[in-house]
Amino acid sequence: MEHIVIIGNGIAGVTTARHIRKLSDKKITLISAESEYFFSRTALMYVYMGHMKFEHTQPYENWFWKKNNIDLVHGYVDQVNPKEKVVTLSDSTSISYDKLVIATGSKPNKFGWPGQDLEGVQGLYSKQDLELLEQNAPNNKVCKRAVIVGGGLIGIELAEMLRTRNIPVTFLVRENSFWNGVLPSGESQMINEHILEHHIDLRLNASLQEIKPDENGRVKSVVIAETGEEIACNLVGLTAGVTPNIDFLKDSGIELGRGVKVNRFLETNVKDIYAIGDCAEQHEPIGNRRPVEAVWYTGRMMGETLAQTLCGNPTEYRPGHWFNSAKFLDIEYQTYGWVFPEKRKTKNELHFHWRHPKQKLCITIAFDRSTQTFLGINTFGIRMRHEIFDRWLTEKRNIDHVVAHLADANFDPEFYRTFESEIVSKFNVQFGKNIQTQKKSLKRIFHIA
Ligand SMILES: Cc1cc2nc3c(=O)[nH]c(=O)nc-3n(C[C@H](O)[C@H](O)[C@H](O)COP(=O)(O)OP(=O)(O)OC[C@H]3O[C@@H](n4cnc5c(N)ncnc54)[C@H](O)[C@@H]3O)c2cc1C
Repeated sequence: MEHIVIIGNGIAGVTTARHIRKLSDKKITLISAESEYFFSRTALMYVYMGHMKFEHTQPYENWFWKKNNIDLVHGYVDQVNPKEKVVTLSDSTSISYDKLVIATGSKPNKFGWPGQDLEGVQGLYSKQDLELLEQNAPNNKVCKRAVIVGGGLIGIELAEMLRTRNIPVTFLVRENSFWNGVLPSGESQMINEHILEHHIDLRLNASLQEIKPDENGRVKSVVIAETGEEIACNLVGLTAGVTPNIDFLKDSGIELGRGVKVNRFLETNVKDIYAIGDCAEQHEPIGNRRPVEAVWYTGRMMGETLAQTLCGNPTEYRPGHWFNSAKFLDIEYQTYGWVFPEKRKTKNELHFHWRHPKQKLCITIAFDRSTQTFLGINTFGIRMRHEIFDRWLTEKRNIDHVVAHLADANFDPEFYRTFESEIVSKFNVQFGKNIQTQKKSLKRIFHIA
């Protein structure tokens, strides 16, 4: 019976294993170093914040794996030998495979800062990082101040986590506005304000120069490069992005770039070896997507696709329209299609931005200047229906149609109704149009003829 070995039990590896099992009775071995059982990485923050226990982050009961005949090995693979078709673990155990799936995820970036390996300096990625955070920052007596370096999604999560224990936080963001490499300026500005309102000491245009130790080799302070200011702290959170976790493959003969290089079938240059999830790098980016896409849904979609190929139905990875969701403190963010920030948008991309005068709610809709085709939408604090935007993007709908029918896309009609007319009238004024809002229609939403 064919033996499929998967390295990494994150969302990518686990999805592959589950779908292979749905489609076949192949022998499956899932190897992972971090935890015995799969857990949801995106839920780690809620464990520290006391909303759930670690066990609650595990979507499957422990018996699930045995019942589905998926062998779990808790260990670290330090070598892959494609000639012999064998992987070797750090305890020298060897496991041979017929097909190998590399799904080893990411690791937090470290840019060679002086002091980056001191005690009290850490990333936020793994279960072990969470445990370390409990030691480094159990409360505001042990951790009198934390400094977070890097203004992305994980940085703001870490800030939120620490604030729930009343730990003062200084947040160093190199850019002149939060996450403005991804968000258009109106949205980025709203999040700057929201961060400050949550009593987080946000420092824009501030990068880390060095981390200084005390006499016991623990972090004592950080120095800001731009100003030379020294800030005393007991914890430094390094959240300046992630990189594919692939160092162990250096001498394997598998082609590596930033990640493990794959084609559209998620195949590497070595026969019978595949890579998926955060650690995979497309030879050629797909549409506007980045060649390495470190997001949850990507891992899941790649896992489903690869399972098809491995079970005899060769399937290209076609992720469809880009979408994602996240949270900035208590503001929910959703994005569908492409809404680029000023520094990345083309001349033809026009934006319509609406922001509520008092509450932290806003939307930005992108469309093409010449064809008026809808390109994408970002929403903050207003929950939208994925399927509707997906359909409008596929149908290449006109911006007027989208604005007129926004109620169909909204998940929360009571809430939204209040803002609908404001949004449409601002659009009409800005673009000299006369769009009439259309009432929500279940027929349209569910495609009932
Ligand atoms: C705090 C946090 C919050 C996040 N929030 C969001 C979010 O809101 N939305 C979103 O889209 N994404 C989010 N992400 C990103 C998302 O979690 C990742 O994109 C996703 O988990 C990647 O899945 P993966 O299966 O590719 O890899 P991983 O989940 O990293 O799993 C890989 C596993 O392989 C193991 N491994 C690595 N090397 C070896 C080896 N040599 N031998 C054995 N095992 C090995 C690792 O220890 C790890 O357990 C978040 C990430 C973090 C850290």
